[in-house]
Amino acid sequence: MPIRFISNSLSKKHSNGRFHPESAQRIEVLEDWIKNSQGKKITLEILDQFAPKEDILSTHSENLYELIAKTKGISGHFYFDADTTANDYTFDAARQAVAVGKKAIWESTNQNSIFALVRPPGHHATRTSPQGFCIFNNVAIAVELAIKESKYDKIAIIDFDHHFGNGTAYIHERNPNVMYISTHADPRIAYPGCGFVDEIGKGEGRGFNIMMPLGYRASEIDIIMGFEELVLPILRQFKPDFLAISAGFDAYEKDPLGVLGVSTEGFSVIGSYIRNIVSDLRIPYANFLEGGYNIQMLPSLLSSYILPLLSEEIIENERIRNISKFEGDPSNQTKSTIKQAKELLKDFWQV
Ligand SMILES: [Zn+2]
Repeated sequence: MPIRFISNSLSKKHSNGRFHPESAQRIEVLEDWIKNSQGKKITLEILDQFAPKEDILSTHSENLYELIAKTKGISGHFYFDADTTANDYTFDAARQAVAVGKKAIWESTNQNSIFALVRPPGHHATRTSPQGFCIFNNVAIAVELAIKESKYDKIAIIDFDHHFGNGTAYIHERNPNVMYISTHADPRIAYPGCGFVDEIGKGEGRGFNIMMPLGYRASEIDIIMGFEELVLPILRQFKPDFLAISAGFDAYEKDPLGVLGVSTEGFSVIGSYIRNIVSDLRIPYANFLEGGYNIQMLPSLLSSYILPLLSEEIIENERIRNISKFEGDPSNQTKSTIKQAKELLKDFWQV
């Protein structure tokens, strides 16, 4: 299935200052790779539209909106916290990223999927605060609007970024129409320090957050085991009509900010599995760029991930079959996490 990459035109103008890992170069190297790979299946568009204020207020507080709006026109950097900052362009770039995200959900179809290649990223931004390099929560806003405006009834979000998407998870934690699924580094050893296996949602949304915290150096083997044992069985019962993916590439084994151990080929295993999920459920999907800080390797990681998604046929991936048959070797921590998750979720799903 073809993929339309859409960037926001100011993505490279937002800056966190020199030497910050979340840099404009991330988009530059990915856009270069896409331009060189363009054809019938891969296209690149640049969007310069701004999301209206009311779209952002569907999900974020007025205070947060005003805080970001006030940074427009500043010289230098405004620090929201030690590592999340704004410059003169941040407010506009972030509003554009939200507009791209909305387009990604509205215009992705079963025949054509959109990849929101945006900066700033979004999944750590909560209702009330920008954090973890994130300003507005692009995926959470798009999903919230799609449900509110009855574009879709039930949406699942899979977040395979190295870090738990605390913003996305907590924004939707009481909503049974949004399922948030995350594989991420164990919160005891990684930012943001939350995303434990028992954070399965609240109130009516209990049972709709699926947490897979992973141990030090966990790889695609651990992620696929979680997908196979928990994610696919639960998704078949939840029956979403859209899948949004928070695609971060910092679970890569040589990411400067990461502690996980996904190989370059591992992203193709993840892409193949996601391809299987959307075919199995027969639903459209869209990707949202989150983290990934190994600039040199980013294009290879992205291409490894999307190649299986571009295929018309389900690719029989030998590695998935082997991992699924437990011929891979997931860590004991992963096995015990999956066991705990099943125990916690069995009141809500057949697992
Ligand atoms: Zn991350």
